[in-house]
Amino acid sequence: MNDCLFCQIVAKEVPADIVVETGRALAFRDINPQAPTHVLVVPKAHYENAAALAAADDGLADDLLKACHTVAVQEGVAETGYRIVFNTGQGAGQTVFHVHAHVLGGRSLTWPPG
Ligand code: AMP
Ligand code: ZN
Repeated sequence: MNDCLFCQIVAKEVPADIVVETGRALAFRDINPQAPTHVLVVPKAHYENAAALAAADDGLADDLLKACHTVAVQEGVAETGYRIVFNTGQGAGQTVFHVHAHVLGGRSLTWPPG
């Protein structure tokens, strides 16, 4: 069995609060939200991080970004503003090594992030 948590969520083996599902992407609420809207958007296929996703070179990164915007519209934060974050590597705080975009919004977001 695949021991990747987000592969298990994609396979519906682990429950998640899914907000958007497309052919190649899944978006679900972060279990430890850092903002009123905090949704994770993952490709259904396993790539370790944003670099591996970019190297896939098959339009998947494009699909993922579009899914992020769909989430923002659906969550009602597209007009007020939202942030898309890919923590890439342990030094940046990545803890789950299945690439995921954090879509954050619903409050004012400071810059730079910590
Ligand atoms: P990162 O630190 O960028 O790798 O982000 C991993 C994110 O996954 C964190 O924000 C966690 O709160 C979130 N997370 C961990 N387990 C789950 C889960 N079972 N369902 C939803 N979000 C999760
Ligand atoms: Zn995975």
